Amino acid sequence: MPWMPESKKRKQMHERRVVEPRYNTSRWRRYRASFLALNPLCAECDHAATVVDHITPVRLGGEFWEPTNHQPLCTEHHNAKSGREAHKPHTYTS
Ligand SMILES: [Zn+2]
Repeated sequence: MPWMPESKKRKQMHERRVVEPRYNTSRWRRYRASFLALNPLCAECDHAATVVDHITPVRLGGEFWEPTNHQPLCTEHHNAKSGREAHKPHTYTS
């Protein structure tokens, strides 16, 4: 990733939705993998969980590393919860 001045970074943060930088750490990736190994099913349905969701979103004051603030979600439910405005729900034809 190219280095950029602090002022420019801050400007970018205001322009786009803030992405929590801790998601990109190896600590989180390891934590996520072990959490999903222990909690393989979505909290909302019986599908395989693929996401460790923050029950109280970090941007709303939820604690990032607090295990009681984590729940396993499948992609569908995670999108439904956190991407309400950004993602259209998937429609499956069977
Ligand atoms: Zn689900």
